[in-house]
Amino acid sequence: AEAAGGGDKEAVRAYFNSTGFERWRKIYGSATDGVNRVQLDIREGHAQTVAATLSMLRDSPVPLAGATVCDAGCGTGSLAIPLAAEGASVLASDISAAMVAEAQRQAEAAQAAAPPSSPFRIPRFEVRDLESLEGRYDIVVCLDVLIHYPREEAKKMIRHLASLAEKRVVISFAPKTLYFDFLKRVGELFPGPSKATRAYLHSERDIEDALREAGWRVANRGFISTQFYFAKLFEAVPIAASQ
Ligand code: SAM
Repeated sequence: AEAAGGGDKEAVRAYFNSTGFERWRKIYGSATDGVNRVQLDIREGHAQTVAATLSMLRDSPVPLAGATVCDAGCGTGSLAIPLAAEGASVLASDISAAMVAEAQRQAEAAQAAAPPSSPFRIPRFEVRDLESLEGRYDIVVCLDVLIHYPREEAKKMIRHLASLAEKRVVISFAPKTLYFDFLKRVGELFPGPSKATRAYLHSERDIEDALREAGWRVANRGFISTQFYFAKLFEAVPIAASQ
């Protein structure tokens, strides 16, 4: 048997470079052809998480224009692109090369469509697992990634992400409180035999503990739910600073 976590990560990478890439590109896209009811519902829930993240960041005293943002596990760029459009300097990275290529394609299209006066700054794209990210950023964001990792690994990821951030950490995760209900539905969410279909739910307590161990406290919370999509959204600030 592989060491805890290692197997998850390699399976997740393989999944998001193949069947998972196609599935999630469709869910995160805007076309409706060949998108089933469950996928449309997840699209809606995820869009709400992205919108809630953007409004948290816009409401914070850290101006987005000119801020350095690290979007860890950027997927197709659902968050990185609107942040870039507001003039943030974004590093968008993902473990999946297919996802990064798609995010880059979408960012270039968005930039080409933006008005000339727009502050749009094309993100820097990297194929990289979030555990190997380095540097310091005003804001570190990680949406809907922790669902792929078990408890201890997820906590370790949070501690690492927090160590890269100066002012804000924003994280979304599927809450453990709805465990049984959710698990039942996950069967529809990830059909097929793939090992990477495992979904891990996390307790708020675990996420908060990991943040606290890294010197952060949760200052703002959101909860997004549709029929098949559930996410808690945490915005954390450094414990030491007042803002
Ligand atoms: N954050 C994006 C969003 O909300 O639109 C994408 C969410 S998608 C459900 C999960 C993403 O996490 C996939 O693109 C996957 O490749 C990426 N991912 C999974 N494990 C990762 C890791 N260890 N490091 C970086 N990215 C990872």
